[in-house]
Amino acid sequence: MNSNNNEVYDYFNRPLRDLRISVTDKCNFRCTYCMPAEIFGPDYPFLKKSQLLSYEEIERLTKVFVHSLGVQKIRITGGEPLMRKDLPQLIEKINKIKGVEDIAMTTNGSLLPKFATSLKSAGLKRVSISLDSLQDEVFGKINGRDVSVKTVLDGIDAAEQAGLKVKINMVVKRGMNEQEILPMAKYFKDKGHILRFIEFMDVGNTNKWNLKDVYSKKEIIQDIHEVMPLEAIDPNYTGEVATRYRYKGSNEEIGVISSVSDAFCSTCNRARLSANGMLYTCLFSSKGHDLREPIRSDATDEQLTDLVEKIWFKRKDRYSLDRSESSTTRKKIEMSHIGG
Ligand code: SF4
Repeated sequence: MNSNNNEVYDYFNRPLRDLRISVTDKCNFRCTYCMPAEIFGPDYPFLKKSQLLSYEEIERLTKVFVHSLGVQKIRITGGEPLMRKDLPQLIEKINKIKGVEDIAMTTNGSLLPKFATSLKSAGLKRVSISLDSLQDEVFGKINGRDVSVKTVLDGIDAAEQAGLKVKINMVVKRGMNEQEILPMAKYFKDKGHILRFIEFMDVGNTNKWNLKDVYSKKEIIQDIHEVMPLEAIDPNYTGEVATRYRYKGSNEEIGVISSVSDAFCSTCNRARLSANGMLYTCLFSSKGHDLREPIRSDATDEQLTDLVEKIWFKRKDRYSLDRSESSTTRKKIEMSHIGG
């Protein structure tokens, strides 16, 4: 195994650094590009409580990833992570793990007014909050539940007041909300929150993805630059998913996550753990590796370490770099099952 100092490297010599932990496959939104309501209806077979990893099991696995496999950053995802009961308790457990440098969470923001303070005091550092428009009508259609823009803006305010660092994620899809790019950019420019635009991705198999609906990074930057000139800035670290830009003459910045038009697989150091304990080595994986069964069969930390090391060592994922007509239609795990 090519590992040293508890670091593990895959086939393309990419280290394992980030672990994204989905704590539930449930969500109170039905965003059309992630969890369309017509598929994820009342009869959808969501995971049962008994199938979910307990917080103790997640804590144990996180310790193995951090202490023995080089993971430094943890991101909590879902579905909507705040749909899982007592989430601050899990954050507290993870925050106590020596070696965890950063704990972030991806959320739709709607439940933050209730939980922001307890999440912060439990040790959460940052939140990425999804908002795809400032127009109720447009946003209501996208989130599939007519949730108002104000609901999410209240979540953003609650996070800020609790002292959490806030980033805003906006998924852009042609014909859905490209006209919202400039209003969103203007609105968040002076709010001090980094707004990140995300290209519409062929995640899972339910969002009717089509390349013609992708509004590319080039188009997004052009739309903004024509009105508010931008300049490119260097990444904060190797493996950062967003390309960074700054408004000329200011420190305010935006980011673009361009999985389709400018893939970033060459530095991808992310693994994903689903709420039922499956390890996925790519957002567009077709299959995962079961870690719940070994845990519940009393595997030792060494055995778990060895298992994950073998999985990562063989990892050749670079879906976005190799995306082709055929790959976009193959069976893939749903994003709501493993988090973005
Ligand atoms: S497509 Fe897969 S390998 Fe590429 S950046 Fe995304 S998660 Fe990483």
